[in-house]
Amino acid sequence: MSNSLRIAFFGIGNMGGPMARNLIKAGHQVSVFDLSDSLVAQLVEAGARAGGSAEGTVESADVVISMLPSAAAVANLYQGANDLLSVIDAKALIIDCSTIDAATTRQMAAAAAERGRTLIDAPVSGGVGGAEAGTLTFICGGPAAAVEQARPILAAMGRNIFHAGDHGAGQIAKICNNMLLAIHMLGTCEALQLGVDNGLDPAVLSDIMLASSGRNWSLEVYNPWPGVMETAPASRNYQGGFAVDLMLKDLGLALENVLAVRGNAPLGTLAKNLYGLHAARGNGRLDFSSIQQILGRDPQ
Ligand code: NAD
Repeated sequence: MSNSLRIAFFGIGNMGGPMARNLIKAGHQVSVFDLSDSLVAQLVEAGARAGGSAEGTVESADVVISMLPSAAAVANLYQGANDLLSVIDAKALIIDCSTIDAATTRQMAAAAAERGRTLIDAPVSGGVGGAEAGTLTFICGGPAAAVEQARPILAAMGRNIFHAGDHGAGQIAKICNNMLLAIHMLGTCEALQLGVDNGLDPAVLSDIMLASSGRNWSLEVYNPWPGVMETAPASRNYQGGFAVDLMLKDLGLALENVLAVRGNAPLGTLAKNLYGLHAARGNGRLDFSSIQQILGRDPQ
C-alpha cells in the first residue's frame, strides 16, 4: 500500500471524528459517513469527502474503518440490505474499531471471509483525549498479516497497537480493560468523596494518591472531581468524553461474557448496577466519570 490511502470512515462522533481528522493530517484521502449531517460538514471542512451513502463512502476505498456505538449499528452497516461487505473492494482491509461483542465480530469476520474480504476487530482505549492526541491504544483481533497491514494506518491515530489474538480477541481484551476502568473510576470517586467529606482539598488528595499506591489512570488523566483537572470531562459538566450509556454497554458485554464462560465478576456486577442506577436517573449521556455524583451527600 502507498503512503496515502483512500480511507472510508463510518461514525465520526466523539471518537471517530478526531480519529478521522488524524488520518487526514497523515495525508490520507478520507471519505466519511455519519447519521449526523453537522458532523459530516465539520469533517468536510477539515478536508474529508462526504460519502453521501454507505456505498458512495466505500467507493475505491483501500481501507474501511468503522467507529459505531453498537453491534447492531455495525452489523447493520456491513450486513444490512445493501450487503456492504460485497460492495467493498475485495482488496480493501476492513477495520472495525467499535466496541461490540466478540460473537458479532467473529460472525462478521466469517461473513467477510465468505465474500473474500478481511475484517479485523480493533477496539480502542484512551478516550476522546487519546483520539484527539493520536495516542490511542488499538487492541486487534484477526490474522497476524491483516493486523500488520493495519498497523501503519492505526499508527496515524494511536501510539500502541496490540495483537490480542484471532478474530474477537481484541473485543475480549477491551471489555476486560473497561470492566477494570469502571471499577477503578468508582474506587477513585469513593476515595475522593471520603477525603472531601473530611475537609480535604480534592486536588491535594489527588496529588497525594498519584504519588502513592492508589495511583491509577482515572487519577492520572481523567480526574472525576470537577475543577481538579482542567482537561477532564468533570471540569466541563461531564460533557463529551465517554458516555455512561457506553460504559454500561461495555459492562453488559463483559458480564454476558462472564456468564458465557461461567465465570464470576462480583465487582464488575456491582459497577454495572451503579452505572445503571446513574443512567436511570437521566445521566446516560454524561461522561462516565459523573458517577462521582451518586456518591455525594447531596447528589445533584
Ligand atoms: P458517539 O455516539 O459519539 O459516536 C458514534 C457516531 O456514530 C455518531 O456520530 C452516530 O451518529 C454515528 N452512527 C450511528 N449509527 C451509524 C450508522 N449506521 N452509520 C454511520 N454513522 C452512524 O460514540 P463514541 O463515543 O464516538 O463511541 C464510538 C465507539 O467507540 C463505541 O463503540 C464506544 O464504545 C467506543 N469507545 C468510545 C470511547 C470514548 O471515550 N468515547 C473510548 C473507547 C471506545
